[in-house]
Amino acid sequence: MLDYELTDQQKDIIDLAQQIAEQKIKPAREHYDEKEEFPWPIMDEIRKADLFGVYLPEAYGGLGGGTMELVLVAEQLSRACGGIALSVAASGLCAIPIMLFGTEEQRRRWIPDLASGKRLGAFTITEPGAGSDATATKCTAKLAGDHYVLNGIKNFCSSGEVAELYTLFASTNPNRGARGISAFVVEKGTPGFTFGKKETKMGIRASPTYELVFKDCKVPKQNLLYKEGYGLFVAQATFDQSRPGVGAQALGIAQGALDETLAYIRVRKQFNQTIASFQAIQHMMADCATAIEASRALLYATARAMDKAIKPAIDRALEKGTIVFDEMNSLDVRRWTKESGMCKVICSDTAMKVTTDCVQMCGGIGYMRDFPVEKYMRDAKITQIYEGTNQIQRNEIAMMMIKEAASKQREAVAA
Ligand SMILES: Cc1cc2nc3c(=O)[nH]c(=O)nc-3n(C[C@H](O)[C@H](O)[C@H](O)COP(=O)(O)OP(=O)(O)OC[C@H]3O[C@@H](n4cnc5c(N)ncnc54)[C@H](O)[C@@H]3O)c2cc1C
Repeated sequence: MLDYELTDQQKDIIDLAQQIAEQKIKPAREHYDEKEEFPWPIMDEIRKADLFGVYLPEAYGGLGGGTMELVLVAEQLSRACGGIALSVAASGLCAIPIMLFGTEEQRRRWIPDLASGKRLGAFTITEPGAGSDATATKCTAKLAGDHYVLNGIKNFCSSGEVAELYTLFASTNPNRGARGISAFVVEKGTPGFTFGKKETKMGIRASPTYELVFKDCKVPKQNLLYKEGYGLFVAQATFDQSRPGVGAQALGIAQGALDETLAYIRVRKQFNQTIASFQAIQHMMADCATAIEASRALLYATARAMDKAIKPAIDRALEKGTIVFDEMNSLDVRRWTKESGMCKVICSDTAMKVTTDCVQMCGGIGYMRDFPVEKYMRDAKITQIYEGTNQIQRNEIAMMMIKEAASKQREAVAA
């Protein structure tokens, strides 16, 4: 890894996450993958090490870092197991919209438990008929007095059932389509909120993926995030900040697979020489390492730049008791859709290519369940799919490029 001029605190975060990855996750990952069990004992270790809240403000029990710190934790834990690491990222997906769009009262109510890991969080926007197209949301939230009444089905929810707080998207006004969708926080145990099918999956099998069922589920009015009709706005701004986290998960998976592969091909011999001594293999090794470092460079640069831009808005909102997103607007903080999408695309495409090449470099043993490399390949695939598939990321990157070019042209004409 290049010297990215990390702070002492960031280096400490890496050390702590690496210790948990090596000592707790590696010896247990095969078990959790095989049994598709949730790793509660490892969650306790992550809690004890205070890694759940590295990106959240100290005022709510976090470490006061930002996206960069979340990226470092996700990368190091994913080096051992992308499925186990996902629980930290899923809690982040619940916390980020509360941080960005919540009132001071809402932040104080939910963020401390997410920061300490006392309660796990989840994010649920996907429905059977609304995947890439979130505007097709059918789940409804009807205002009735001081409650919203939720009805509908959400699916493919990571950390479903184990999480206690859910950021959820439902239509408060179906006549308004995309502009009728709103964001809520729903607590586990709310009457009318139950869990349906648990998915069985190709990879990230330590992470439970659930269907959520809402039947006349009454959610207090105070659980609405921001304003009615702003749900897709909340989701998009959340993804702008969270997609580097998926990039980090992918990057860790790629690095972990390459580490295991190198250890093996340096000792495995055929034709009286090590596998690592064949030039055909060396070129694959070099391509894998190059892609990983290029991905990491974009990821870290983006996370840092994003934190630098957003932090003043967070500080102001905390000082004044206002909403972070409103402060971002008043400080003219720009959107990060293009760069965060780029991080997700480059890191996840790298993870898929690197893990596939790692299986190839290891040969037959690389394909076997009792050797760790095939699991990395299974775990890598999801990073190209969730939080917006890589096709959707490319659509968004291109859309931002077109907008930027049009705005430059307008400026040139005006000058
Ligand atoms: C293991 C797992 C965990 C998940 N966790 C969560 C979670 O915690 N919370 C949550 O809300 N969701 C979650 N999801 C859902 C995930 O985000 C969606 O699966 C993903 O956004 C894609 O939606 P879809 O599966 O409906 O695919 P579809 O939208 O049906 O897409 C199918 C294919 O068509 C392509 N496609 C669709 N539209 C376009 C377009 N306009 N241009 C080009 N290509 C297009 C897609 O890229 C894809 O290749 C999870 C999914 C999985 C598998």
